[in-house]
Formats: sequence, C-alpha cells, structure tokens
Amino acid sequence: MENKRFPLYQTNPDFYNHIQKVSGIQNKLGQDVLLSAFPEKILIRMDKESVIQNMKDGVSWYRKPIDVTDLTQIAEECFGEECRLVVDMNKLHSLETIVPFLEKCHILEIPLSFYVYENRLPDIVFKLLKKYGCSVSIVCKNGTKMEQIIKQFVKEGISAEAQYVLSEKNLCDAINVLEKHPFPQEIRRVFFSIERSGFSTSFKPESVIYMEELVKKASKNTWYQKVEFSSCLAPIMQCLGENQIKKGLLQSCDAGLFSACISSDMYFLPCPLDKRKRWAEDLRTTTIQKPWKSSFFDLFRQGFIFACSGCSSQSKCGGACPMKAKFS
Ligand code: SF4
Repeated sequence: MENKRFPLYQTNPDFYNHIQKVSGIQNKLGQDVLLSAFPEKILIRMDKESVIQNMKDGVSWYRKPIDVTDLTQIAEECFGEECRLVVDMNKLHSLETIVPFLEKCHILEIPLSFYVYENRLPDIVFKLLKKYGCSVSIVCKNGTKMEQIIKQFVKEGISAEAQYVLSEKNLCDAINVLEKHPFPQEIRRVFFSIERSGFSTSFKPESVIYMEELVKKASKNTWYQKVEFSSCLAPIMQCLGENQIKKGLLQSCDAGLFSACISSDMYFLPCPLDKRKRWAEDLRTTTIQKPWKSSFFDLFRQGFIFACSGCSSQSKCGGACPMKAKFS
C-alpha cells in the first residue's frame, strides 16, 4: 500500500518543524511516513542545449536537450500520479516541442505550470497558456522588465505569480520593486528566489544590508499579494537574525520530499540548484520512481533531519537550506 500524506506539496513553514520531529519514523511497511510516494511538483528545465562538464577531470561534452520523446516519457510516467509539472522556459523553446507536450498533458490530465521570462512573448504563447489552462510564474531579474511583462499578462487577462530572481547585482533593484509595487490584482503572489546556490552561501557584507532592507519592506506587506522568499535564500536570511524574519516569509524546502527537478539534459534531481548533480539520476536510463524511492535520494533527505536540529528559530527560518553545507 502506498503511503500518501498530503494532496499537494506543503508551503507552510511550520511543516519543517514537523519534519524535524517525525522524519525518519517508519510505518509498519518500512516506509518513511513523511515521504511523498511520487514527487508532487516537478520542475522541468528546458534550456535549448547543454554542455556537460565532468567535475573530476574537466572534460566536457555536448548533451542533447530535452525533446518531444523525453517530454512524452515524463508525462507518461506522471500519468495517474498527484503531480504538477512546472516547465521552465528559460530559452523560449520551439513550439514544435511544447505543443505536443501540452496536448499530451491535457489528455493525461496532468496539471501544468509555466515559468515565463522577461522576453516579450509571442501572441501564440498566450493563446496556448489560455487554451490549456496553465498557471504561470513570470520570472524576472529586473524590475522594469517585470513591469512590462506583467502589463502584457494583464492585457491578455491571465493571472500569474511574479518571481523575482535575486542576485548580488540586483538587490537594490528588488528593493525598488517593492517600493514601487507594480503588482495589480492579477498577480497572485510575489516570490523572491535565486538562480544559483552560490549567492545564498557566500555573499558580500553589503548584500546582507540590502537583504535586510528588502525583507523589512516585504514584512510590511499591506498589499493584495502574499510576498514570500524561497527557502534557497535561507542562508543569507539567517544572517539577518531571527527577529527580522516574519513567520511565513521564508518558505520551507520541500526538495526530495514533495518536489524534484528534471534538468534540460534529463537528469532527475531532488534540488534544482544542485548544478554539480551530486544527487542526480539520468532519466534516459531510469524512471522517476526508481531514484525517488532510492537510498541514494535518502542520503539527500538526511539533510532535513540533521540540518540545524535543535534550533529554536526553525519555525521562522522554515528549516533553512538542508544542503547549505554542501553548497558552501
Ligand atoms: S536544498 Fe537548499 S538549494 Fe536546494 S531547494 Fe532546498 S533550500 Fe533550495
């Protein structure tokens, strides 16, 4: 009998406390009582092509990007599961690849979300998003561009969430975004994330000051939208001190528990920021289910049990990034 706990992945920061207390406890069938039977959210990266570098010997090689066959395989593996697929269209992929995938997911009744970027989108993309009822996250690294693309979505009558990707270069711009608050009611949520774990684990002292300012502004939220920060930002947020972080502002990490990622070269990973693929399996030679239930991925999950255990501030920081030590 499969062990299903929650209908959808959790975003409640208190949940991490819960994990700390109970994770590792097994039911009579020897299954972890908190582990989702199948990932409930899978992020699919759709970069056009990739050059893989072996970290040991530095040798690099070209790897075929995700294609229609790969996407069909993913959709078929997710069929019948409580799983949402989130497609990261960083480089606007050719519609010949996207359209059959949309059609396939529609037939198999798999819910789809799209990350769309600050490039101006062709009208056909809006038509497809509407036709297939996809939810949308507008991903930007620049406030002005974010404003422009939000206007485009509002004009098209599509509601979305706004995701601002932070780096050390754009913290001032991010502060201005909250100052100006260009978010109409069609924007359901404002979410701050990062692209690379590096920024979150080693940063300049002034970044902490800017981050503090950004968090202060976000904490005074009187807007229509919820403002939240990705758990991946936990290491820099922890530098601000627990009194600065309002409960619920920082999401708890669900990597490997509810969510996972498929890289553009078809590797399946619990953490989307694990660029060096410490925990990764090649889906061209295995299935989603096998690594998800493997002892190899359990090694990753142990990070949840051992990271920051015993800290009284966990309910505020959401449990932090369990992989922080590995990313440093
Ligand atoms: S393990 Fe850390 S970097 Fe990876 S998703 Fe979780 S919080 Fe983010």
